[in-house]
Formats: sequence, structure tokens, C-alpha cells
Amino acid sequence: MARIVMKFGGTSVADLDRIKNVARHVKREVDAGHEVAVVVSAMSGKTNELVGWVQGMPKVVGANSPFYDAREYDAVVASGEQVTSGLLAIALQAMDINARSWQGWQIPIRTDNAHGAARILEIDGADIVKRMGEGQVAVIAGFQGLGPDNRIATLGRGGSDTSAVAIAAAVKADRCDIYTDVDGVYTTDPRIVPQARRLKKIAFEEMLEMASLGAKVLQVRSVELAMVFKVRTFVRSSFEDPDAPGMGDFLNPPGTLICDEEEIVEQEVVTGIAYAKDEAQISLRRLADRPGVSAAIFGPLAESHINVDMIVQNISEDGSKTDMTFTVPSGDVEKAIKVLGENKEKIGYDVVQNESGLVKVSVIGIGMRSHAGVAATAFKALADKGINIKAITTSEIKISILIDGPYAELAVRTLHSCYGLDKN
Ligand code: ADP
Ligand code: ASP
Ligand code: MG
Repeated sequence: MARIVMKFGGTSVADLDRIKNVARHVKREVDAGHEVAVVVSAMSGKTNELVGWVQGMPKVVGANSPFYDAREYDAVVASGEQVTSGLLAIALQAMDINARSWQGWQIPIRTDNAHGAARILEIDGADIVKRMGEGQVAVIAGFQGLGPDNRIATLGRGGSDTSAVAIAAAVKADRCDIYTDVDGVYTTDPRIVPQARRLKKIAFEEMLEMASLGAKVLQVRSVELAMVFKVRTFVRSSFEDPDAPGMGDFLNPPGTLICDEEEIVEQEVVTGIAYAKDEAQISLRRLADRPGVSAAIFGPLAESHINVDMIVQNISEDGSKTDMTFTVPSGDVEKAIKVLGENKEKIGYDVVQNESGLVKVSVIGIGMRSHAGVAATAFKALADKGINIKAITTSEIKISILIDGPYAELAVRTLHSCYGLDKN
């Protein structure tokens, strides 16, 4: 007998039939004698709808966010998960399974004060563990916790993954299964590249890069927690028949295991390709080339919570003037330009230019640490397709390339095949 946390994403609980299907997956594990806690997302599309409602309200003057009070945003947006947790508990009870729903505040899942993008600080798993010991299934609303102000706090989009892994760590689960609408982690988004291959295993570090560079299959924070707390995490499909052969295999369930790199025997040089849409580029022209100029630019942007990503600075010809180019999420361009305008004198630039609708494609693989020429292969493959590169950043295990939006799919496919990732 083991302890398992099962998480079901939005498409897995999209309607009443899908929720009944989820109940069958849960029943399979209960019948096998395991202790089970379930984490659910809102029905797919629901969170977007709730966010839209909040954004449709009049702006609150003096609120602690540019548009609305983030605590009330959380009160609204967390409601989607309350609905699905209750519905799944009812579906389980109807199958004669002892089940009870739990909201974040009831456990409680304690978070910090960053409403809308809160981080989990502490989970008291005692009550749930006791109930699981008595044979009760805990059905937990994902995406939400309780802030220091005793108000509901949400964990950022895709946050139910993080709820699940954090709960698995708190109750010392033997496994955390993330059920979604694909049957594992692929070499790239299988909806963009049909030739993508499912990975049997992927290393924590690689999954971390994939997630932070745009593969939304897992929220970044969930991978960090799995890595730190050594949670055995699988990504698998809720769309397969819950009672098909092998679905209940405890040691070797169908799907992708996120694990230490030592567990991966045949390490490829490149493991996967990720992409992130809606990037924007901002360039400051004829900037004074002197110490402190970067601090003058990026300090105020950081204070305004604008996430700057790729940074390129040109070498100035005569040592006096230079250009600085960097990327921010498209949604932050307006705010960034405003902040730069307010600091124009301190920074000392001539003009600011910007371009939205760009895409960052990234090549990821631990094997890059010990192989030369990986970047050159990407540049040549993109050049052969006539794709212009606007900026590049690299780390030990990844190369990120900024390109024009319309070339996104072509670039992902090209990179995927140039490293031999296409399935035969
Ligand atoms: P859920 O609602 O279950 O949390 P998400 O939509 O957040 O599901 O994540 C699953 C989606 O992630 C898939 O439908 C797929 O299109 C996308 N995805 C992007 N990159 C990958 C990848 N490398 N492997 C698998 N899925 C990926
Ligand atoms: N429902 C939330 C969202 O759409 C959380 C999640 O699905 O993980 O972002
Ligand atoms: Mg998700």
C-alpha cells in the first residue's frame, strides 16, 4: 500500500462526464489499496472567464495593483477550483468512495502575501494524513492557499501543478501523478509538432528549463518543489481508459517520470525544444557608455515588477555611445516604456524603440554541457530556412533564440528535426 497524490488539470475536469471519468481513475487507485489525495483545477476555460470578469470591472483608484485589488481578484479567480473539488467529491461518493473536498484555507495551505502569484510557504498535512489513514479520499482545490492576511491567495496561472507537488511533499506521498490531456512530456509541444516523441524520463533541470521557457505542461514552481523535495512526479493522461492494462502499475505507470539526471541512462545531447510567444523587444539607442547605465535602466524596471529576459548590449565604436536591447513580456511593454520615459534623464538615451509579437524558441539538454557545436547547428538550420535571429542567450544547458512571431512554428519544427528528435 502506498500514498499517492493525483492531480487533474482543466481539460481533465472540463465537464460532468470528464469529472465522472476522473472518479474512475481515483477509484482504481483506491481499489488497489492506496491512500489517495486528489488535486483539481477549474474546468478548462473557467479561470480565463473569471479573470475576464475581474478585468471587466471599473478600475479601483489607489488599489494595490495597477488595475484592481489583487485580494479580490483572488477571491473571484479561486472559485473555479471550489466547484470542481465539490463535484468530484460528489462523483466519488456516488461510487461508494469515502471522499471529502478541501479548500486551501481548510487545510491550510499557507502562502506569502503576493496575491495573484503567491508562493506556498507551509502546508499542515496532519488532518489530511489522518483522514487518509481512515480511508477517506481528500479532494483538494488546487491553485489556492491562505495568505498571511487570512485571505485566499492564488498561485499564478497553472498553479494547481504546484499545489499537487507541494501537497505530495507535505504528506510524504510515494508518488505525484499529474494527469493532463497529453500522455507525458514530449520532446516539444505535440500539438505543434506531430513528430514529437514522448520521453520516458526527463531530468529535473531539463524540465525546469522546458517549463520556464514556455512548455506549459508543468508550472515552473512545481518542478522546483519536486526537485528540492525529491517528489517522484509523473506526467500522464486522464484521457486513457482508467481500467486499461498497466494504468494501475505502481512502479512503472504510463507517462513521463521527472527525475534526477543519474536515473537517465541514455542521455541525448538535446532533450527538447520549447517556445514562448508574446515576447517584446525594447531598444534604447545612443546610450551613454559609462558605469552605472545598466543599473539605471534595469533597477527601475525591476522595481515596477517588469520581468526583463534577454539583454544585448552593443560595443560602442568610439567608447561614448552604445545601444541596449532587451526583451519583456508583450503585456508589459507599455508599462516599461513609461518607466523608461520617467527615468530618461538619469539613464541618458536618445530614443526608445519597441517591437511586439516576437517568439523565443529554446533548445534544451543536459548533454550540451559536454558537447560543442550545439548552438552552431541551430543557427545554420534556422539560416537555411531564412529565419532571422534577433537575439540569443545561452546557459550551460540551453540556447534561446528570439525570432519574428510568424516564424515560430517553422523554427520549432526545424530545430526539432535538426537535432534528430523527430520520431521515425
Ligand atoms: P492542464 O490543464 O492539464 O494543466 P495544460 O494545458 O496546462 O494542461 O498543459 C498541457 C499542455 O501542455 C498540452 O496540451 C500541450 O499542448 C502543452 N505542452 C507544451 N509543451 C509540451 C511538451 N513538451 N510536452 C507535453 N505537452 C506540452
Ligand atoms: N485553473 C488555474 C489556471 O487556469 C490553475 C491551473 O489550472 O493549474 O491557471
Ligand atoms: Mg496546467
